[in-house]
Amino acid sequence: MATVLIVDDSKFMRLTLKNLIEKKSGGKHVVIGEAEDSATALQKYKELKPDIVTMDIILPVDGGLKAVTDIILFDPKACILMVTAMGQEKIIEEAMGLGAKGFVIKPVNPDKLLSSLDILAGK
Ligand SMILES: [Mg+2]
Repeated sequence: MATVLIVDDSKFMRLTLKNLIEKKSGGKHVVIGEAEDSATALQKYKELKPDIVTMDIILPVDGGLKAVTDIILFDPKACILMVTAMGQEKIIEEAMGLGAKGFVIKPVNPDKLLSSLDILAGK
């Protein structure tokens, strides 16, 4: 079981991910918080200490890479899964370089998302 923080500026996307994560996993993984920008992401991470963070790249103000940087600075063991649109391979590479542990491409394939969470939860 893993606790998950969802970071995405789209409310619809947060809802979609939450449903996928909780229903598709049969309650194995639980969403404990949501954030819509990078500052809130760091604040919620500190507050909630989730096992896994799903991270959008295009976020208002500072963007997802800033959130990845800040969270890993706070907790080098943070488990961050990038969830991002196609065509952003360079940014994904950058995020992995910063310490993100994996990535899933939007539109999200439910099985791929769940298997990524299972892998990260097992770490
Ligand atoms: Mg976005």
